[in-house]
Amino acid sequence: MTQHHLANSELGSLDYDPAPESAQIAKLKGAYGLFIDGQFTDPTQHEQFASLNPATEETLVTVAHASAEDVDRAVASARKAYDTVWSKTTGARRAKYLFRIARIIQERSRELAVVETLDNGKPIRESRDVDIPLAAAHFFYYAGWADKLDHAGFGADPRPVGVCGQIIPWNFPLLMAAWKLAPALAAGNTCVLKPAETTPLSALILAEILQQAELPEGVVNIITGDGSTGSALVEHPGVDKIAFTGSTEVGRLIQQRVATTTKRLTLELGGNGANIVFDDAPVDEMIEGIIDGIFFNQGHVCCAGSRLLVQETIADEVLRRLVRRVEQLRVGDPMDKNTDVGAINSAAQLERIKELTAFGESEGATRYTSSCALPDKGYWFAPTVFADVTQSHRIAREEIFGPVLSVLTFRTPEEAVAKANNTNYGLACGVWSEKGSRTLWVAQRLRAGVVWANTYNRFDPTSPFGGVRESGFGREGGRHGLEAYLNV
Ligand code: NAP
Ligand code: MG
Repeated sequence: MTQHHLANSELGSLDYDPAPESAQIAKLKGAYGLFIDGQFTDPTQHEQFASLNPATEETLVTVAHASAEDVDRAVASARKAYDTVWSKTTGARRAKYLFRIARIIQERSRELAVVETLDNGKPIRESRDVDIPLAAAHFFYYAGWADKLDHAGFGADPRPVGVCGQIIPWNFPLLMAAWKLAPALAAGNTCVLKPAETTPLSALILAEILQQAELPEGVVNIITGDGSTGSALVEHPGVDKIAFTGSTEVGRLIQQRVATTTKRLTLELGGNGANIVFDDAPVDEMIEGIIDGIFFNQGHVCCAGSRLLVQETIADEVLRRLVRRVEQLRVGDPMDKNTDVGAINSAAQLERIKELTAFGESEGATRYTSSCALPDKGYWFAPTVFADVTQSHRIAREEIFGPVLSVLTFRTPEEAVAKANNTNYGLACGVWSEKGSRTLWVAQRLRAGVVWANTYNRFDPTSPFGGVRESGFGREGGRHGLEAYLNV
């Protein structure tokens, strides 16, 4: 470490001047309808609900609430588009539409980043550098597959599934929409997408983009609403496939509903990832990886490294450095380009985080919470680390889905694997070690869909993502992601 670095770390975090992005860039309309058959239309019951900015609690816009009747209209539109247009459109032509959508997302990326941050509360730096570029990358990637399905390993001329009902959560709104729509359209399906109640906005801007790309009417329908809208979509007999990303609880419910039908199903559910740190790991990178693994997107990440498993020999040093690093995280205005940790997405999610962290204290874990000042309005939770956590603690067993890290220790690789696997989830893990053979030994024994080595939260459209056990089934991304949308 250089003298300069030492001096900086002694000073704690440096103050930065505010660098706010402009909210005007969002160009929001006051109210949005349902996107059905290529047009924005009024909901049949004329019901609306508000979408808030969680950093200020102000209403951003009102959006339509889709009833079962509206779901029926959207499914009928998707069916008609499938039968009359999309199933007759060649792969090369479908690719052209997908490339167009990707390019328009790039052209409107600044607007989309602002919309996403206003609606979700995530730092503008993350929407700008992660969510929006990755959403465009997904459309680009699957555009490339649309005319090459014969070579995807699913036999000659694999057929689409038909009409897909797609339900997504609030943590990466546009990115989750891209993960769902891009492979489905590339494979030749038509879609009805339901975004989450607290973050419908970027999907509605995406609807405008689909119009701009002149995607044929009805190929994608976007209906805003709450759990009842999602439920009506799951129940609809005209839907051939349900793709769901969200909580394990709702996923289980959907699985029961679909079980007695011929509908196909993929589920991307919750997680409680272990980030395993060996004493030979490169320390500076590892500390940043741990921080990124849990505080990226306020910890509202299904694959978050929410359980840190650290080798006992270095546990004291790692904890000391982590606590110091947490103090330096800039928490506050998500629209400020310097912000590291933004607002919690909703009052309900904040309540859940508070409830679970209270258990952490009452069950005897040692709590370190950043001393950062929190804004008066909005939903906020200061980054928190719990040490002395044991496997029986609720904070180690349950998915907190917030900026809260639980630190556990281990002595041997065997113990690390046993503790990492001691969860009902199985989405993602990280392993930090200088030794490749050890990393591979551990990775082969971890029961998780994704294992990162000396990095964390790395996403790429070419790479399959998904879980095992209570984290769900089916893969999104890569060639594997096509399988979910082909009749194979
Ligand atoms: P959620 O409550 O399960 O909601 C997910 C979506 O399902 C929302 O659009 C929701 O609508 C809708 N929904 C609610 N009840 C429904 C029902 N009975 N039938 C059909 N749809 C229904 O989950 P969340 O709290 O939004 O998201 C957080 C969870 O998602 C976490 O557990 C996280 O780990 C998981 N997640 C997983 C992945 C992955 O790839 N594995 C990625 C991101 C998030 P409303 O918004 O109106 O409630
Ligand atoms: Mg919102």
